[in-house]
Amino acid sequence: MLDSPLETLKSAVNENAWITDISEMQAYITEWRNTFDGIPLIVLFPESANQVSEIVKICASNKIAIIPQGGNTGLCGGAIPDKSGSQVIISLKKLNKIKSISRNNFSIEVEAGCILEDIHKKVSNYSLVFPIDVSSSGSCQIGGNISTNAGGTNVLKYGTTRSQVLGLEVVLPNGDIWNGMTNLIKDNSGYDLKQLFIGAEGTLGIITSATLKLYPCPGNIVTAFLGFDEISSVQYLLFEMRKKYGNNLETFELISERAINLVKKNISNINHPFDTDYSWYILLEVSKLTFIECNDQLMSFVKSNHISNAVITKNLTEKNALWKIRDSISAAQKYEGGSFKHDISVPPSKVSALIIELEEKILRILPTSRIVAFGHVGDGNIHFNVSQPKNMTLSNFEKFRKIISKTVYDCIMDFNGSICAEHGVGMLKKADLLHYKSNIEINLMRSIKQTIDPMNIMNPGKII
Ligand SMILES: Cc1cc2nc3c(=O)[nH]c(=O)nc-3n(C[C@H](O)[C@H](O)[C@H](O)COP(=O)(O)OP(=O)(O)OC[C@H]3O[C@@H](n4cnc5c(N)ncnc54)[C@H](O)[C@@H]3O)c2cc1C
Repeated sequence: MLDSPLETLKSAVNENAWITDISEMQAYITEWRNTFDGIPLIVLFPESANQVSEIVKICASNKIAIIPQGGNTGLCGGAIPDKSGSQVIISLKKLNKIKSISRNNFSIEVEAGCILEDIHKKVSNYSLVFPIDVSSSGSCQIGGNISTNAGGTNVLKYGTTRSQVLGLEVVLPNGDIWNGMTNLIKDNSGYDLKQLFIGAEGTLGIITSATLKLYPCPGNIVTAFLGFDEISSVQYLLFEMRKKYGNNLETFELISERAINLVKKNISNINHPFDTDYSWYILLEVSKLTFIECNDQLMSFVKSNHISNAVITKNLTEKNALWKIRDSISAAQKYEGGSFKHDISVPPSKVSALIIELEEKILRILPTSRIVAFGHVGDGNIHFNVSQPKNMTLSNFEKFRKIISKTVYDCIMDFNGSICAEHGVGMLKKADLLHYKSNIEINLMRSIKQTIDPMNIMNPGKII
């Protein structure tokens, strides 16, 4: 008697490297914000690219849909199956080896399931850095970072994940393994195929390994926190800092007063560095600068009234305390009820104009809503979140979701921005993508999908 596809799938991985019991699957079938959940046929934990390939071949011959999953921190439903009980989750968590480091080539070869923080730790032993850094670094995987083209706090200096990938190994939807592992910096031999899989959210194949760029450690970094009341100052500060420090400006993060107040209220052991509250704050880092030079620069900003207060950290404890504020914003919002999250980008010079216009428009629609704006403004990316009013039920608040998000995205289009700067499209923004992208773009994306995955088994229902 022939085995059922379920039994064949189990036999493609090591003993007990699968889960079918729904109560044991919880971490793989719901997301951090509880926005999406699903019911798969099985969760599989392959330990090699060959095992991934074997699973994909079984799925292809039985037309079973596959959901690749990394650390499941994506927050857009990209790594979550539907509720049919027929889809297969392939978790990459056991493909977690760091294969090699080439110090002379400033590159590292890793398996896709490596936790981002583990890569940071490993390369720091060689006085090197891998610059992609997000608040979820302790649980997201490099395969997920590549598949979502993750951004984070260092994009201003180094670019997004796309800029850090030299080579990839990918299991294609027919089970073939494409070996594109290279550490070449220049390669113009035809189409740059790896780019198709970067940011594809698992819809074109499963990344099993990657070669990544490394950089020399930037050395001493000065961390400062600035307080000011006029959002327009952010443009002046960013322009002046970039002009003066160029590529040594490592980070330039904007935090609103409301964001900081939520962190103080909901997260323990927070040390706010100022006695006075300001409407806006910047957390910035500059390398190759002394404490005194930084102090002089900040004093000149105070004199020109572009900032009201500033503090420069004197040690690692103070630095970590500032980063704790920044990294806790998403967690702090979870305690405040519902939130409509918009992860948007505009050219960096337009950030303050965008925030002013958006706040005005949203407060006209729902005056009691609480706007939490923060983000990586150095690269034009803002998390513009609209939180549930204190005096409104969640179900009443939900009635405003459509109009508020439409208002935000329409405004973004007027600024020539993007409705999706980080995190990805997943299921969350699929309809918005169809609405805001041109027919030519959507048709090109569909043609690529159809060519590489004609049976539509690779993460169906995501992006397009
Ligand atoms: C607190 C918090 C802060 C965050 N901050 C940021 C931030 O600053 N910047 C940012 O960009 N994101 C941020 N994120 C979002 C998230 O961490 C990133 O999108 C991350 O890159 C997702 O990685 P993951 O391993 O968790 O992927 P998952 O969530 O598991 O998957 C994401 C998508 O990639 C696909 N995928 C995963 N692994 C593979 C693979 N090996 N091959 C093919 N497809 C795959 C999945 O199918 C899914 O579509 C944050 C999330 C949280 C919870």
